[in-house]
Amino acid sequence: MLPQEIIRKKRDGGILSNDEIQFFVDGITNGDVTEGQISALAMAVFFRGMELDERVALTLAMRDSGSVLDWSELNGPVVDKHSTGGVGDNVSLMLAPALAACGAFVPMISGRGLGHTGGTLDKFDSIPGYVTQPDNALFRKVTREVGCAIIGQTADLAPADKRFYGIRDVTATVESIHLITASILSKKLAAGLQGLVLDVKSGSGAFMPSHEESVALAQSLVTVANGAGVKTSALITDMNEPLATAAGNAIEMKNAVQFLTGDVIDPRNWDITVALCAEMLFIVGLVASRDEGTAKIEKAFRSGAAAEKFGQMVAALGGPLDFIENMEDHLKLAPMVVDIFADGEGVVQSIDTREVGIAVVELGGGRLRAADPIDHSVGLDSLAGLGHKIDANTPVARVYAHNQDQVAKATTRVKAAYKLGPDPVQSHTVYDIIEG
Ligand code: URA
Repeated sequence: MLPQEIIRKKRDGGILSNDEIQFFVDGITNGDVTEGQISALAMAVFFRGMELDERVALTLAMRDSGSVLDWSELNGPVVDKHSTGGVGDNVSLMLAPALAACGAFVPMISGRGLGHTGGTLDKFDSIPGYVTQPDNALFRKVTREVGCAIIGQTADLAPADKRFYGIRDVTATVESIHLITASILSKKLAAGLQGLVLDVKSGSGAFMPSHEESVALAQSLVTVANGAGVKTSALITDMNEPLATAAGNAIEMKNAVQFLTGDVIDPRNWDITVALCAEMLFIVGLVASRDEGTAKIEKAFRSGAAAEKFGQMVAALGGPLDFIENMEDHLKLAPMVVDIFADGEGVVQSIDTREVGIAVVELGGGRLRAADPIDHSVGLDSLAGLGHKIDANTPVARVYAHNQDQVAKATTRVKAAYKLGPDPVQSHTVYDIIEG
């Protein structure tokens, strides 16, 4: 087999066989296929697409390009969630321990933030001592004993996707729903899951530019993941406004702990987190219906069981033993805290959520290139939501920064992102559930 023949076939609209896909992915992994050939195939798929069988084969071949975890020793289902990314999206921080409290196991391999969206791992880096790259033995021990472990991607997990994605990133071929599907799922499925729920965002802060494309991505992910043998469904959720009222790393961590302890719960964040958890319990058969899942998860939060699991996970992965109890002592927030007021008054009509995320990046709390360092202490909180009334005494947000220049830049960007007007506006949470 020759890589150029496989590229030619796809370029001309042909359907690749499992063997051809496996051969090409092997070549990506061992270096036999060149960068030029990989980018040519990516461009051919971008224009020609892939049939379901091809997407499943690509996903499985990339999954199997590295190690695939085996959790057969656990006495409960192994589940995970993937979000397409958003602003103020700290759902994973509450979801993993809540599921662990309900008898599921959640070995969650998360990524760092890139562009306007935050990354779960960066949020955990704000906890002193927390090891986001534990060795395999510790990762397995924490998953087994606590029920959840949130860690970073390891080098031996789907290495073909790592190389493929890096090349797509610089050849304008990321924006292919079929390639995105295989890329996301190869990494998630390498974690050895029985159930997966996808949180596909739609709106001004979402990765996909339109609602229709978010739905198309969700459908592709659900079909391929189920085709690859993992029970999967997707929730299409709203990202026309930040999900939590906080955006930034330590600030979102604080918001998550307040959620877990019941001190401050952002209502949209509650609705979406509970819905995702209920779906996860349902698809792996830990409950008989979504309603039962909702009741079980709400109890896990309200009883403090989820908070307890979170504290155990943080301690087991090297963080403070009293993190939940004394979170304010452990999280470092930037010292300059300034309210951002709008120029006029009125009801929040729309929010350019991407711009709110960019304000955090500009403060130093996110990155534009994968290798950029970040400042975990900066960000925004008290973010007003859609339909909220703003006046001279009610800010649209509060910024955490180190100097006046940062405050001025964040103020300009956040103010421009908020449009005020006279009309009442409805917030949204879950638009749809796409089942396998
Ligand atoms: N995230 C991924 O992991 N892969 C893609 O292709 C796009 C987003």
